Formats: sequence, structure tokens, C-alpha cells
Amino acid sequence: MSPFDLLIRGGSLIDGTGAPARAGDVAVKDGKVAMVGNIDGTADREIDASGSSVAPGFIDVHCHDDVALLNTPSLDFKTAQGVTTVICGNCGLGAAPANEHVHEFFARGIEGVLGPVPHFSWQTIGEFYEAVRAAKPTPNAAFLVPHGTLRVSTMGWEHRAPTDAELGKMKEHLAEGMAAGALGLSTGLTYVPGAFAKTEELIELNHVVAEHGGIYVSHIRNEGPGLLDSVREAIRIGEETGTPVQISHHKASGRDNWGLTKHSLAVIDEARERGVEVTMDAYPYTAASTALAALTRNGRLIRAMDPHDVMVASVKHQHEYEGKRLDEIADMMDLPVEDAVPKLLNDEEQAVVAVMFIMEEGDVRRVLQHPQCMIGSDGIPSPTGKPHPRLYGTFPRVLERYVREEGIFSLEEGVRKMTSLPAKTFMLADRGEIREGAWADLVIFDPAKIVETSTYEEPRQHPTGISHVIVNGQVVVENGKVRPAPSGQFLLRADT
Ligand SMILES: [Zn+2]
Repeated sequence: MSPFDLLIRGGSLIDGTGAPARAGDVAVKDGKVAMVGNIDGTADREIDASGSSVAPGFIDVHCHDDVALLNTPSLDFKTAQGVTTVICGNCGLGAAPANEHVHEFFARGIEGVLGPVPHFSWQTIGEFYEAVRAAKPTPNAAFLVPHGTLRVSTMGWEHRAPTDAELGKMKEHLAEGMAAGALGLSTGLTYVPGAFAKTEELIELNHVVAEHGGIYVSHIRNEGPGLLDSVREAIRIGEETGTPVQISHHKASGRDNWGLTKHSLAVIDEARERGVEVTMDAYPYTAASTALAALTRNGRLIRAMDPHDVMVASVKHQHEYEGKRLDEIADMMDLPVEDAVPKLLNDEEQAVVAVMFIMEEGDVRRVLQHPQCMIGSDGIPSPTGKPHPRLYGTFPRVLERYVREEGIFSLEEGVRKMTSLPAKTFMLADRGEIREGAWADLVIFDPAKIVETSTYEEPRQHPTGISHVIVNGQVVVENGKVRPAPSGQFLLRADT
């Protein structure tokens, strides 16, 4: 019998910590890294990695794959990118706790973002986690408790503060989720019903997160003119409760606000100097993507949004609109834009996802370069249409464009942003580094050849230049092809 299950020979090892790459072999046994260095031994299987980099598997910290893990357990669009762990439940959106209100939450549009749930076989957060475990996904998965779902399940769409009894109920569900291993609490404060929550409600809930040693993760209230106050609100919540704070998909949105990240990053740095743990994630594109309904007030497109800057990514019925800008769709309908948008939302039962070209490259670079910024795709796994290319291309794009072409940080630093920094921030034990005893989540890629092939026009394309991806010791991408396996584990917060 060979001493090892798998031996990866001759690669350039990037261990995930940011340390310089070095030549060496990696041996895997029973799902874990058994040895690193110059290895004299045999294995059931060998992979020749000469000419390639060997890195820890990438951790996608900002995912909406909650339901996709059930519907498409291979998660091929992530696995092919070298992603071995997805962190779900972001932006306050999720599938548990579930009751009639939450079923309606899906029907009213969030199934456009998370995908349809064929059958709600769960009620509690713990029961939902069991359903994910039973689906045996290819990558590892971890979850945040989504505030929007918590609030809808408890008090529907009430636009007011919760009563003491309602707040107590939300805290109970949250505590149940934290006990089941959730990493923390997420909010989506631009969405209904997250937007109805005042800071005080979020502070109350974060006391529960703090008791369990979790993190507060926020799609903040305003990413445009109100960016700085919104960053301050997230920091205040962390400061008053003791939870670390992660600012989701940090950006400055809208032409008038370009350049604001200079100031928002200064606010974050000041807080860090005071001892508040504030970190962030970003995706490497100047276009955002969200539910079209979130860009409207009373059915009309919000004034700050130019209809030509908004492309429809996916719809439920009229697929001819996918890939078209709102002004083009209005022409196709022979209606003014003001009337076309509410008609589209109505005809599509609110399930319209949009891509918006609203950011500046300078802001994107500045945020990505920040030493506390990790990579999160924010990919929306729509089963149909033309999703934002970040769903298929985020991780290769960072390595292709920002490391190789622009050199805004080193390859080792780029990998750190995808591996050890997220593992440490989100309390995932023995992940995100190549070292003896860590789980064998690994990716083998050619840094000179890695290419994002997904585009806004043709987003559903797997990248090239990634030869192998390994999850808990199992090879799930081989010569660039996804080989689905039940390799993923359900990851709990480290001290659960
Ligand atoms: Zn978000």
C-alpha cells in the first residue's frame, strides 16, 4: 500500500499566507495535507505540477449559492474557478428559517437571485443545513444567518421596529443558527425588508452574534452618496457589540460618487487603528448586479440610474430580454422607459436580475489592493439567462488581470486574498493554507495562462489555465474538466 493517496510533484507552492512561492511537492492522505517539501515516496496517484502553481483552494466569501447547492451540487461554475469553499447566506438573503412568509419572500422575487426552491423540506436553520449536507455538494459550504429572512419569517414585511416579542423571536432563530455552526449574521440594508431595520435592531441582534463568537457581514445601507455614513454604521455595530465586521462587495456606486473609496477606506483604517476588526470583500468588475426591483421605487427606476447602464441578466419568462439594456427593452415594448420597467417587473413576477455598469476602475483597484480586502464573487446563480460574468470568472480574472497584466499586487498576495485571509476572518479551521495537517483543498493553475473566458455577452464559460482542483483530497477538476464528487464538507464556525 502506498503511504499517500495523492502526490502533487514539482509545483511552485504558494502556501496562502503571502509568503514567497517555493518549489516543492504536496502529499495528501485521508483528505488532509500529510507532508510538504521534497517528498521521497509513492502514492496511489501522482499529478505532475511542474510549470504550474499549487495553491490552497479558493474561498469565495460572498456567495448566493444557498439553493444552488441543493439544485446543482457540483457548483461547476465555482468549482472550475478553483473555488473549494463557498460562504453563503449573504446580503440578508437565505432560505431559512422558513415558514409561509419566507415561501412568499421567494415568490416575490428572491428566487430570481437564489433560484427556485422545489420543496421547502426544512423549517429551522439547522434543518436547512441538514438538507445541504444531504445534497453532498462538491465544494465545502459555510453559512451566515440572513437577517432579511430572519425578519420576514418573524414579522413579514412590516415597515417598523420589531416589538420586544418579535425581537426575542429573531434572537432565538439567530441563536439556533449560531449553535448549528453559522459563521455570523449578514444584512442587506438596501433591500426590503432589511432596509426597514434601524441600527438599534442590528445592534441587539449582534449581541447574540458576539456571544457565539461570530462575525457581522453587511451589504451596507448605501453604496452611493451615503457610502461613508453607511460604512460608519457597520463599524458602530461592531464597536458596540464586539463583533468583527465585514463590509460586503465594497464599492462606490454611481458616477457622482466615484473616488469615494479613498475616504471609505480611510474610515475603515481609522476604525482598525482603534482596535475594531473591520475587513471587506470585493469582486473585480466595474459592473454590479442585483434584483431589478431593488433599483426601483414604486415600480419606477430610481433617478440616479441611467436605463442604458442597466442590462437585464435573467428573467423568468421572456428570455428575449436577457442581455438587453433597459432602453432597448423599452424600444422593443414600444413604451417609454418609465412604463416599460414596471411592466417588465410585473410580467416577470419581480424575478428580474440586472447588471449595472456603475463603478469606476480606480475604485475597484483601490479596494482590491487594500490588505484587508478579500475576494468574493457575489455571483448570482441564475439557472437561465446571462448572469454577471463574475459567477464564472471572478477568481481567474483577479489572477489574470490584476496580478499578471496590471501587477497591482503579487501572485502570493492575490492568493492570500482568496485563501488564508478569508479562512482567518470567517473562522474556518485548517483551511486556506498549504501546511501539514490542513485539509487538502488545493488548486493547480498556470499563472502565465490563466484566463477568464466569461463575458457579459457569453457569461457561461469556464476559465482556462486551471488544470486541477482538489476538495478534501478528492480531485474534482481534472485537466480543466469538472468531475462532480460528493467531496464537500459542511463547515462550522471554528469554535462551534
Ligand atoms: Zn449584496
